[in-house]
Amino acid sequence: RPRVLSGIQPTADSFHFGNYLGALRQWVDLQRDHQPFFFIADLHAITVEQDPKVLRERTLRAAAQLLAMGIDPERSAIFVQSQIPAHAQLSWVLQCLTGFGEARRMTQFKDKSAKGGEGAASVGLFTYPILQAADILLYRPHYVPVGEDQRQHLELTRDLAQRFNHRYKKTFRLPEPYILKSTAKITDLQDPTAKMSKSASSPGGIIELLDDPKVSAKKIRSAVTDSGSDIRFDVEEKPGISNLLTIYSSLTARSIADLEEEYAGKGYGDLKKDLADVVVDFVTPFRDRTLELLEDQQQLSDVIEQGRQTASEVAQATLADVWQRVGFVAAN
Ligand code: ATP
Ligand code: MG
Repeated sequence: RPRVLSGIQPTADSFHFGNYLGALRQWVDLQRDHQPFFFIADLHAITVEQDPKVLRERTLRAAAQLLAMGIDPERSAIFVQSQIPAHAQLSWVLQCLTGFGEARRMTQFKDKSAKGGEGAASVGLFTYPILQAADILLYRPHYVPVGEDQRQHLELTRDLAQRFNHRYKKTFRLPEPYILKSTAKITDLQDPTAKMSKSASSPGGIIELLDDPKVSAKKIRSAVTDSGSDIRFDVEEKPGISNLLTIYSSLTARSIADLEEEYAGKGYGDLKKDLADVVVDFVTPFRDRTLELLEDQQQLSDVIEQGRQTASEVAQATLADVWQRVGFVAAN
């Protein structure tokens, strides 16, 4: 079975619809005929300041959410990044293969450091894509299911893999991005040209999976829509309506064309009202299940420990190859 690997940061109390439709839903589907490694990226989370107690809580909440959406620990290794030291270790070697200018070209650093200014951003935020390359390459996956915002980092990962393989010896597999075109970028409900994001979206712009469903319904009903009144999919002219249609279509498995036909002659209000119902029906059982899982912290730690063991074996084997090829003297 081909291997897949992906991660998600514990940077909020809840995942949002962008995470779910852009990435996590594919995780669930890929379990059927792939060998998956899924991790909670707490090393990435501290590229911006985190409260230690909150970070620990959010890491467990992330695990609970993954289980609630259908990640099965018997099929998938679910693990916590900081528990596998090989990620940080391989990252160092890859940093030494990365050009400074090459790292500078990563647009997510520009986006994420824009607020406080580049001078205030951490060096960790700058080198984050290289840690991400290490996360991926350690497991030699065939595919990496992510949203569109990660495509550039995947390219860097492939470049670094190729460079290492060429300079030393073939060690890494070149992973392919697995990006679903239709849901690759879910946008902010209040600013439909920007991506929905845990750290950048305003509360009204983001639908959190664990929000009170009534709150989510209200956010859908207050989503910013476009001028005009016809309901059709057109990202350029109608980014707000197009985003709502994308969410609607992917939650109901109905085609966009089918929805356009149903809403021909109806108003934005009708679409929003119906979508709010669809969203409530989806999030209510998910939220109940997550809250139930969070009551049993022992079970969550057991799942993470099982994942750590599976992941550690694979990661250690790759790291040992790398250490030997780079020319480090083996310890006795
Ligand atoms: P942060 O703002 O802290 O970076 P995030 O919302 O970008 O958080 P991540 O944990 O960085 O979430 O990303 C997890 C996964 O979700 C990645 O595969 C990413 O590509 C995907 N993703 C994030 N936002 C969106 C979005 N708006 N649309 C589609 N996919 C998304
Ligand atoms: Mg992100």
